[in-house]
Amino acid sequence: MNTFRTQLPDSFNLPKKLARLGELAYNLWWTWNPNATRLFARLDFALWERLNHNPIRMLREIKRARLDEVEKDADYMYSYKRVFSDFDAYLAQPDAWSPRTHPELINRPIAYFSMEFGLHETLPIYSGGLGVLSGDHLKEASDLGLPLAAMGFMYAQGYFTQRITEDGWQETLNNPLVFDDLPALPVCENGERLTIEVEFPDRVVSVQIWEVRVGRVPLYLLDSNVEGNSENDRLLTARLYWSDLDRRIMQEVVLGIGGVRALRALGYNPSVWHMNEGHAAFLILERARELVASGYTFEQAIEQTRGQNIFTTHTPVPAGNDEFPLWLMDKYLAAIWPQLGLNQEQFYNLARHQQPHGETFSMGVLALRFSEGRNAVSELHGQVSRKMWHSLWQDKKEEDVPITYVTNGVHTANWMARRLRNLLTDEFGADWLDHLDEPELWAKLDDIQIEKLWAVRLHLKRKLVFYLRERVRDRWTHGGFHPVQVVSSGVMVNPYALTIGFARRFATYKRASLILSDVERLLNIINRPNMPVQIIFAGKAHPADDPGKQLIQKIYRQVKRAETGGRLVFIEDYDMNLARYLVQGVDVWMNTPRRPLEASGTSGMKAGLNGALNFSVLDGWWRESYNGKNGWAIGEDKEHVSPEVQDATDAETLYSTLENEIIPLFYDRDIKDVPRGWLERVKESIKTVTPQFSTRRMLKEYVEKLYLKALG
Ligand SMILES: *Cc1c(COP(=O)(O)O)cnc(C)c1O
Repeated sequence: MNTFRTQLPDSFNLPKKLARLGELAYNLWWTWNPNATRLFARLDFALWERLNHNPIRMLREIKRARLDEVEKDADYMYSYKRVFSDFDAYLAQPDAWSPRTHPELINRPIAYFSMEFGLHETLPIYSGGLGVLSGDHLKEASDLGLPLAAMGFMYAQGYFTQRITEDGWQETLNNPLVFDDLPALPVCENGERLTIEVEFPDRVVSVQIWEVRVGRVPLYLLDSNVEGNSENDRLLTARLYWSDLDRRIMQEVVLGIGGVRALRALGYNPSVWHMNEGHAAFLILERARELVASGYTFEQAIEQTRGQNIFTTHTPVPAGNDEFPLWLMDKYLAAIWPQLGLNQEQFYNLARHQQPHGETFSMGVLALRFSEGRNAVSELHGQVSRKMWHSLWQDKKEEDVPITYVTNGVHTANWMARRLRNLLTDEFGADWLDHLDEPELWAKLDDIQIEKLWAVRLHLKRKLVFYLRERVRDRWTHGGFHPVQVVSSGVMVNPYALTIGFARRFATYKRASLILSDVERLLNIINRPNMPVQIIFAGKAHPADDPGKQLIQKIYRQVKRAETGGRLVFIEDYDMNLARYLVQGVDVWMNTPRRPLEASGTSGMKAGLNGALNFSVLDGWWRESYNGKNGWAIGEDKEHVSPEVQDATDAETLYSTLENEIIPLFYDRDIKDVPRGWLERVKESIKTVTPQFSTRRMLKEYVEKLYLKALG
């Protein structure tokens, strides 16, 4: 079966010798292959930055004269040939890990459903960690040669762009996506857009399908902006996480039920159905409905399908799971229960959840009950999930509740800085990425000269500082930026000062303001003579989350005070591009969630593999990685009696570890101004984080713990 269902457009009118750049622009493989990325960037570095790294726009807007020049540049053409020879070899690779190790998976596709996918900054259909995890999952599936097809949404309005006012208030800009500029192609059949239909009690909604090529893996995106649908229905898939429940439930019906139909229309018969979070759980009902329609009872249908369903939960609090009041289920799903051979009560009973404010239909309960494979995303999150869902398995002891865990990982090639990757290639050999999850490889890191590592670290920090300043310069030049905003956005950042990064969604449990618990003490820390410390904050709050926005404002009001000397900084509009600069460029990556609410976390993994040292609460992944030598812990590996006590003790260790350990170690230099002790920790971080917290390790675990079992 051919992997992709779309035709590439031949719209760029490129010189013949450069024609394949058009093909590359439509396969996101280029995003995790620095040589391929440079092929686009080298056409015109300034334009590349201005277009936010969009190769499709680049190829459309670049001057023909420049292309004619490039075509005659022997050095460019040499890289061009190499990149395309790598690309072709990659697409054809018959001996990738999956077919080699698990031939039983060949022609047994895995369907992977997620509400968001974070693949690249030009495709803003993600809001945070969940999306970036799904994106990395696809890149790794492609690398491993896993037969996976993914299902999500094409959000016509993208995710919002963040602006911070002089007073620190978050404003949101919505920029409609221009689909022609995106690496997404409409799926057609006989020259017409392919559509599928989803019924609601009073109407039918048509949905079209876009295809994004992620290496060898196709990602399908559903889009209800189709002629014939009502205005409201055309907006159904326009935005990520509508806050009103009516739209939310309809979106989830489209994803779960429409997603199954879309895969069928595309010719798929998946052997494994993986739900990344509960938003897609209605797919369980659609798969059962298919069998009931062909004569099975509901019980038989569930019996037949449950074994192939896999559910990954990401939320450690009951309220984090989507739940809908029963009247809303009536409103949008009443047509479904007769088709399942159920009455209303029986239908509610599938996922009834007793809440203080009444009964609800819980997507989490639905997914847990009707999936044979269930996993949390770190060891501690596994414990929390088994406790949280014990009521569904009352006959079992808590530790026997059948929810396992697969700790998250990140896609190494996607997140590791090119300069560091090159250093490792020099030391380990050209094929080291093929062995990246083998601990033996990392033992070789001990032999790397510490000065070489330091040179890379300094380079990455200078690059970050340069990038921040150019961003501010751009905003200042184009007007509308107040001097206070200029200062707060990092113009005074010093490339040689100890730099701490704190960037993530501004959800209150992440406690972004923990470091502000004692402002006087913080001012003392950042303003020590000869040992300056700077902290770079970034992150968006959900547009409907006022407490999150207040947290940003609280930080911003400190950031803009003259007393901080420009050493506290807030950078607007955190996205994958800014994340890349930050995780690669800072010295310390700080994370202060209220334990155990960070199910896993992944940004710290990205930092750790680049040699930025984690300084974090022992929650999620860091609790599994921290070994006393690869970074620092905030607080202990235990539960606290109350949030207030936890905040107070965590703040105390936060300050004292900075004062007594982190700052002195960073500024302890040898005669050549190299911080040797610090770099020993950097080595230890790269060595311990990269193999263990890679999607390579993670996806192999998904295959071996969950996907193979689902094949039966
Ligand atoms: C990795 C990443 C995240 C996840 O960060 P956490 O701190 O683990 O929650 C969120 N947003 C972006 C843009 C990322 O790249």
